[in-house]
Amino acid sequence: MTTLYTNIGELTTNDVRLGDGSAMGRLRDAALVEEGGRVVWLGAAAHAPAADVRVDCAGAAVIPGFVDSHTHLVFAGDRVDEFVARMAGTPYDGGGIRSTVAATRAATREELLATSAARAAALFAGGVTTLEVKSGYDLTVEGEVRLLEVARDLTGETTFLGAHAVPSEFSDRAAYVELVAGAMTRACAPHARWADVFCDRGAFDVDEARHVLTSARAAGLELRLHGGQLADVGAVRLALEMGCASVDHCTHVSEGDLAALAGSSTVATLLPGAEFSTRSAYPDARRFLDVGVAIALATDCNPGTSYVTSMGFVIALAVREMGLTPDEALYAATRGGAAALRRSDVGHLGLGARADLVILDAPRCAHLAYRPGANLVTRTVRAP
Ligand SMILES: [Zn+2]
Repeated sequence: MTTLYTNIGELTTNDVRLGDGSAMGRLRDAALVEEGGRVVWLGAAAHAPAADVRVDCAGAAVIPGFVDSHTHLVFAGDRVDEFVARMAGTPYDGGGIRSTVAATRAATREELLATSAARAAALFAGGVTTLEVKSGYDLTVEGEVRLLEVARDLTGETTFLGAHAVPSEFSDRAAYVELVAGAMTRACAPHARWADVFCDRGAFDVDEARHVLTSARAAGLELRLHGGQLADVGAVRLALEMGCASVDHCTHVSEGDLAALAGSSTVATLLPGAEFSTRSAYPDARRFLDVGVAIALATDCNPGTSYVTSMGFVIALAVREMGLTPDEALYAATRGGAAALRRSDVGHLGLGARADLVILDAPRCAHLAYRPGANLVTRTVRAP
């Protein structure tokens, strides 16, 4: 069966070979045909072929679905009291993770699945079509497996994050690192594609992170890393050393690290929801683009530091607060996220791509930043 999306006022493909020749690969008055979940034709609406189903976009903008490459969706409870205290002046130090761990351990699998699915549904309604989900709020062997099983019901892009915090029952942090790198990694590896470590001041240091990532890689997992959210402790260099697909946050990053990132296959994933929710200074995304670093934007949806379920809001923040143009922010939220997940089939709408697309309630995608806080998604289409 074929579906024709036609009368697209502005079609962003993110394929440089298409349309206006820019990185956005933009076409006006365009049409697109989907068959078997893939893009099989695109071009001028006036020349569109017939199809089994016809969707009239009535002049709206159509974009590739957002790739949210960094979330912590599986958790119980909330930390609104912590947020309120922070807004009254209490700084964030990473310590609140343990309160979410206690709530998550106490929740049933059904409760976790229901609340996580509701958050995923909010992301999908806001235009997300590919989603990464981490574990990290149980911090026991069986519990981390349970969280990854819940995450697996939502996405194939699951990430083992046993090294998120040292749980309160461990007075010996070295013993916990050994547990994560050993039995926990072995138990979780069948349920995850990725492994991640929170490598930062007050979290895990570079040597601990290297140990966990090395074990994870030996267990067949691909690697990503939290780094530079609170301080520059060398996480970006470690991500490069380990060949991580992505190093996430990069709020505190040196010029030397940016130059090294620019020559690498590691994407810098920026998470402005975290700066917003912790009232912290935003990274200057222009520093990254000006030296050629590939960037992604993601929600970092989590109960402590970024309870954000809207990629539109993330784009608006990145434009207003981090120096990106609306096009640069859209690209980072789509093709950038795909690169951070090492996916070539999503994040763009070139021929053969998955037909994951979003019909906006706007004539141009720049409205995502221009009209912040509004839901501008008419329809999210996720290819079967
Ligand atoms: Zn995170």
